[in-house]
Amino acid sequence: MNHKTGAILVLSGPSGAGKSSLLNEIIDDIGDCYFSISTTTRPIREGEVEGVHYHFVDEEEFKKDIEEDHFLEYAFVHGNYYGTSIKPVKKALNEKKLVLFDIDVQGNTVVTNRLGDITTSVFISPPTLSELKKRLKARSTDKQEVIERRVKMAKKEIQRISEYDYLIINDNLEEAASTLRVIANAARAKIPGNEINEFTQKWEDID
Ligand code: 5GP
Repeated sequence: MNHKTGAILVLSGPSGAGKSSLLNEIIDDIGDCYFSISTTTRPIREGEVEGVHYHFVDEEEFKKDIEEDHFLEYAFVHGNYYGTSIKPVKKALNEKKLVLFDIDVQGNTVVTNRLGDITTSVFISPPTLSELKKRLKARSTDKQEVIERRVKMAKKEIQRISEYDYLIINDNLEEAASTLRVIANAARAKIPGNEINEFTQKWEDID
């Protein structure tokens, strides 16, 4: 695909939907990509690595980034701030990469409003609420209170599925991954608005 800019693939869904596992499954099959590493004020979980899973900062630093307009979008989720820095995203788009976001529904609204012509969005859901509860408990990195907050949030998020281009129900990892693979590859072919005129003109010139 020879578009001048890259494209964006937004993945949303409750914690425990399996977004990271799905991404791991497909990452080698979807060409040159950049996974956007968000900045957050939430405490680091066991097994997480600074700069790999998130940039972990305190609230003061996060608020400074907001003031200095460093975020493409940011949101308050489960009692913590999460944000996507603009700079690395711009760079990756200029390098024609597929930029992958794992952000919540609020983030998707902003990204779609700002960069809708190059954005494809996918909501990933566990098959049922009770399955989600089971997965969150099995992960056991979060306290009961945190799990309850995430479940409450998930119920709200599910109400906004219609704002997404696609829904993947992650019941079977392999099947869900093969659907996501197709969507990710198709996301690259989205036409950036500013290229349409140029393309049609060139296309008519070549005779
Ligand atoms: P977790 O704490 O489980 O890593 O993430 C909690 C939620 O925050 C998830 O729904 C995740 O998609 C969302 N999230 C992570 N990074 C960002 C971000 O940069 N912006 C927004 N809006 N949401 C994010």
